[in-house]
Amino acid sequence: MSATNASTEKTSILIIGTGFSGLCMGVQLKKAGIEDFVLLERGDDVGGTWRDNHYPGAACDVPSTLYSFSFEPNPEWSRSFPTQPELFEYQRHVARKYGLTPHVRLKADVQECRYDEATKRWTVTAKDGRVFEGSVVVSGMGGLSNPSYPNIPGLDQFEGESFHSATWNHDFDLRGKRVAVIGTGASAIQFVPQIVGKVSELHYFQRTPPWVLPKADGPVRGWEKSMFRALPFTQKIYRACVYGLRECYVLGFTTFPKVMAAVEWLAKAHIHRHVKDPVKRQQLTPNYRAGCKRVLLSNDYYQAVARPNVNLVTDGIQEVRGKRVVTKDGTEREVDAIIFGTGFKIQELAPKGTFIGTAGRDLADVWQSGVEAYRGTTISGFPNLFMMVGPNTGVGHTSIIYVIESQARYVVDAIKTMRDQKLGSVDVRPEVLKQYNDKVQSMLVGTVWNNGGCKSWYLSENGRNNTLWPTFTFRFRSQLKSFDQASYQVKR
Ligand code: NAP
Repeated sequence: MSATNASTEKTSILIIGTGFSGLCMGVQLKKAGIEDFVLLERGDDVGGTWRDNHYPGAACDVPSTLYSFSFEPNPEWSRSFPTQPELFEYQRHVARKYGLTPHVRLKADVQECRYDEATKRWTVTAKDGRVFEGSVVVSGMGGLSNPSYPNIPGLDQFEGESFHSATWNHDFDLRGKRVAVIGTGASAIQFVPQIVGKVSELHYFQRTPPWVLPKADGPVRGWEKSMFRALPFTQKIYRACVYGLRECYVLGFTTFPKVMAAVEWLAKAHIHRHVKDPVKRQQLTPNYRAGCKRVLLSNDYYQAVARPNVNLVTDGIQEVRGKRVVTKDGTEREVDAIIFGTGFKIQELAPKGTFIGTAGRDLADVWQSGVEAYRGTTISGFPNLFMMVGPNTGVGHTSIIYVIESQARYVVDAIKTMRDQKLGSVDVRPEVLKQYNDKVQSMLVGTVWNNGGCKSWYLSENGRNNTLWPTFTFRFRSQLKSFDQASYQVKR
C-alpha cells in the first residue's frame, strides 16, 4: 500500500543522504541531463559524516588530492591530509557549484522506503511525516552514520556528562576534568591528543590496540597550490600517482600478508620512539597482523598516551556506578565525563523497517542470513533500489570516493537504460547475486582482514566479511562500467 496523499512530493529519483555519495549521485544525474530528483537529508545542512564528525582533531587519513571528486579537483587544500572543516566546506561548495541546493530537502530523516509492485514506485516517509514518491531510490546513507555505544550495565544512569565522537559536545568544558575515553579506533586516536592537555586525568579504556604509523602530513606549499591552479593537469598526475601507490597496498592485504611485518616494524619503532614506559609500550603493541583492522596514521597519538595524566586501562569495563567506571578487576575510577570513541553501527546498512521490498519483505530480515548485494549496489526483491557504499565496497587503503564515483556511473547508466527502454523496474536476478557474492567471499579467503588474528567490524558476528572489497579498486570500477541489463529481471 502506498502512503501517497495530496501533499506527497512526487519525483523520479529519490536520493537518501547528502554525504559524498548523495552529492556525487546528484552531480552525475545533472551531468546526464536528468533533473527530476530529490536529495533527502536528515540534518540541517548537506554533508553527512563529515558534517557530523566535528570532534577536535577530526581529519581524513587519505590524502586530500585523492579524497575529493575527480570532477572537482581542489587546488586550495591547506594540508596533504584534509581536515574536517575543509572537507565539510568542500561538500557545501560542490552542492552550490553544481546546483544541487534546490534539490535538497533538509531535516528529512527517512523512516521507511516502501516499494509498491503495482505502481512500480517507492514511497519514502520521513520521521516528520513528509512523504516522497519516486520510481528509483538511491541510498547514500553510508555505514558511518549511526553511532555505536557499548552495552555497559549502569551506563544509562551515569551521573556525569557523556557523548560520542560523532555527537561531540563542544559546550562541555573539558579543562581540569577527569575524563574516561572508551575506544581506541580511528576517531579516538585523533581526538585524544587534542584533549589530553586540557583534562586533569584521562582514563583511556583500550580493548584492542591499533597499529599506528606516522602520517606524512603537512601544509601544502604556496608554489604547489599555484601550480595546481595554473596547470590543473599536474594535480591530476599527482592524484594518479597517489592512487597507484595506494593500490599497491592491496598486495599486502590480500596476496602477501607477510609483507605487513614491515608495517608492524615501523609501527613498533613509532611506539618505541615516543613511549618510554615499558608497561605502556607493551599495552600499546598489537598482537595481530597489521591490516586486520584499519592501519591508523598519527604523528601525535603515542606522545599523547605517554603523558603522565593518561592512565591506559586494558581491563574490561564491568559496569558504571554513579560517577565511577568499574573494571573487571574491581578498580573504580571516578570521572566527570565519558567520551565514546566506539565507532558506528556499520553492520546496520539497512535498519529494520527502513527498506520494504516486494511481497512486503524487510531488507533487514532478508539480510539476517547474510548481508549481500550485487556489485555492492543492488539486492534481489528490491527493484529500482541502488545502494551506495553497500556490502563489500569498503576500502581500507584508498579513497572511498573512488568507489562512490564508480557506483554513481553504474546507477546513472541503469537509470538511462530504464528511460531509453521504458522499463518500469529492474530487479537483480537471485542467481546472479549469489554467484557474485560466492566469488567475492572466495576472494576474501586468505586475506589479512579475514585471517589476521583480530576481531574487527569488517566481520559480522558469524565471521563473514560483508564490508570490504577484496581486491584492487580499479577492478571494482571496471565491473561497474555499464549497466548489465541481462543480470536483471525487468518489467516494462
Ligand atoms: P572504530 O575504528 O570502529 O573504533 C572503535 C573503537 O571502540 C575500537 O577501539 C573498539 O575496540 C572500541 N570499542 C567498540 N565497542 C567497544 C566496547 N563495547 N567496549 C570497549 N571498546 C569498544 O571507530 P571510529 O574510531 O569511530 O572509526 C570508525 C571508522 O570511521 C573507521 O574505521 C574509519 O573507516 C572511519 N574514520 C575514518 C577516519 C579517516 O581519517 N578517514 C577518521 C575517523 C574515522 P576493538 O578494536 O576491540 O573493537
